[in-house]
Amino acid sequence: MAGKLKNCPECGKLFMDMGSRICRDCLEKEDELMLKVASFVRDHPHSTIKDIVDGVEGVKERLVRRMIKEGRFVQDGIDISYPCEKCGKPIHRGRFCEKCDAEIKKDVMKAQKNAVERAVKAVAEKRPMGTGFRSKDMGQKL
Ligand SMILES: [Zn+2]
Ligand SMILES: [Zn+2]
Repeated sequence: MAGKLKNCPECGKLFMDMGSRICRDCLEKEDELMLKVASFVRDHPHSTIKDIVDGVEGVKERLVRRMIKEGRFVQDGIDISYPCEKCGKPIHRGRFCEKCDAEIKKDVMKAQKNAVERAVKAVAEKRPMGTGFRSKDMGQKL
C-alpha cells in the first residue's frame, strides 16, 4: 500500500504518510517524550496536565492530552486529572465533567426545541396573510 506524500504537521518536513500522522523523526521524538511523560506520571501519580508540561522537558500539552485520550495512563493504572473545559473541575476522561456534560446536553436539546418552535411560529404567522382579504377588497367598486 502506497502512502501519501504530505507535510509533517510538527516540523513541516515532507514525508510519506503511512498512517502515522507525523514524520518518522517526529514520531521517534514523540515516542521518547511519551516514555518520559509516562515515567514522570508514574513518579507523580496525581499530576495534572500542567504538572506534566512543567515537569517534562519539551513536552506539549497537546501531546499529554492525546495520551490521556488514548488511555495511556489508564492502562498504567495511573489516576491523572485535567481541568474540565467548562468549569475547570479535575476530570479523568472526555472534555467536560459530568455536571457540565449534562448541562451541555440540556442546552443542545433546548436550542433544538427553540429552533423548532421558531420555525413553527414563523409558518403560523405567515398563514393568515393573503387569504380572505383580496377577494373582498377587489369586489368593492367605488
Ligand atoms: Zn516531523
Ligand atoms: Zn465542568
